[in-house]
Amino acid sequence: HPARERAGDLFKTQAFVGGQWLDSPQRFAVTDPATGEQLAEVSNLDANAALGAIEAANAALASWRDRPARERSQIMRRWFELIVEHADAIAALLTAEQGKPLAEAKAEVLYGASFIEWFAEEARRIQGDVTPTPGNDRRILVIKQATGVCAAITPWNFPVAMVTRKVAPALAAGCTIVLKPAEQTPLCALALAELSQRAGIPAGVFNVLSCDAQNAIDIGKALCASPVVRHLSFTGSTEVGRILMAQCAPTVKKLALELGGHAPFIVFDDADLDAAVEGAMLSKYRNAGQTCVCTNRFIVQSGIHDAFVERLVARTRELKLGNGFEAGVQQGPLIDDAGVAKVMRHIDDARAKGAQVLTGGTPPQGRFVTPTVLRDVTQDMLIAREETFGPVSAVMKFATDEEAIALANASEFGLAAYFYSRDIGRVWRVAEALEYGMVGINTGAISYETVPFGGIKQSGFGREGSHYGIEEYVEMKYLCMAGL
Ligand code: ADP
Repeated sequence: HPARERAGDLFKTQAFVGGQWLDSPQRFAVTDPATGEQLAEVSNLDANAALGAIEAANAALASWRDRPARERSQIMRRWFELIVEHADAIAALLTAEQGKPLAEAKAEVLYGASFIEWFAEEARRIQGDVTPTPGNDRRILVIKQATGVCAAITPWNFPVAMVTRKVAPALAAGCTIVLKPAEQTPLCALALAELSQRAGIPAGVFNVLSCDAQNAIDIGKALCASPVVRHLSFTGSTEVGRILMAQCAPTVKKLALELGGHAPFIVFDDADLDAAVEGAMLSKYRNAGQTCVCTNRFIVQSGIHDAFVERLVARTRELKLGNGFEAGVQQGPLIDDAGVAKVMRHIDDARAKGAQVLTGGTPPQGRFVTPTVLRDVTQDMLIAREETFGPVSAVMKFATDEEAIALANASEFGLAAYFYSRDIGRVWRVAEALEYGMVGINTGAISYETVPFGGIKQSGFGREGSHYGIEEYVEMKYLCMAGL
């Protein structure tokens, strides 16, 4: 596979525990979703190995936590620089195992690296408080300390960024971490581990447990059950999030869950139509619709509806579908057959219930789904409720602001929402009324290392990125100093 050569010595197929590359008797296959070609056979670790990794992370904790923040910061900065230096090699691995177009992969590598840069800086700004005292004989202080050994379980749609978004704040705070990357995309995580070692991140501080879907369940149980692990951060489906939350109850573990989304994208009559279409394309078709903040429902006001739909269809038809390594490709394959089947089920269900297919809707070719636009979508359709995770634009029509907000909030999810309007009063009213953790106003792009990314309702809790992101990885301790 061409990616092997491009990745060079970042092509790693063993797990990474306690600073050692770890083999296992069993291996599992990682394949290129565009071609079905096998890319690698990777160490398939089990629950026992997870216990070993927890031990390694625990052994490394004290010396990492107790280093001056400036030192942790400098090592992390070096890691960031190495990732940027090797961005092309990692991007090739990313496109190979995940499928997104190479340019998008490169952008993800840099976006992913930006979390390490950001949290390298934040490492030095973890500050406490001195608060008013109840009496003059005492002083009250609040200090923040590293949470301890942490665990992270990440999905396949952003094989670099989902890892760095969790590992960077943990390391900045002085925690050590055990990562279980998605079975579809372990190669990027292992390449990051290699660079972490080159950057001087000490053995045991960052560990990567590669394993297949079967072992992921056992490793998940081991991470949740361990009293040594103080915090679990998970990004993935709401179903698995519920399981992990239940599994963490016995040890009363701190949790951050970034689960499914079902983003509404409201276009009001007073919107700038060009900008709305631009934002729609960005928020819908990034990563072929496989992001948790991708628009799942376009909710469009009656006066602008037909013009918006017409432009959306025209732009959707222009998208170039193909292997992510080919120049100019904008839409890669979906990750696996189950993903394709779900998207097709949503299209078929909508069609059967009266939606009109304006473009696409044709049978998939392998893992490639033609970008599709549906109009006259109604709330009884699967696509109006379930996360589609594919390149399908589902358009609904509304008349009044109240109706738009009610439609937008009619979801168990509460991750990202978008809307387009030029009326300042409406902008405030709608922004405050949307039950979502993140709202893009006149934009379809909202993900940056400087923002608190996360959801409400059944999209989970906890925030990643920004100065809030580090709060997950520190414990607050209050000191009451009396007898003054
Ligand atoms: P997706 O639908 O995006 O594949 P999943 O929630 O199934 O999302 O997977 C996200 C991550 O959760 C992956 O790393 C996967 O291996 C892991 N995972 C899936 N099921 C479990 C489980 N029961 N326990 C622990 N981890 C799991």
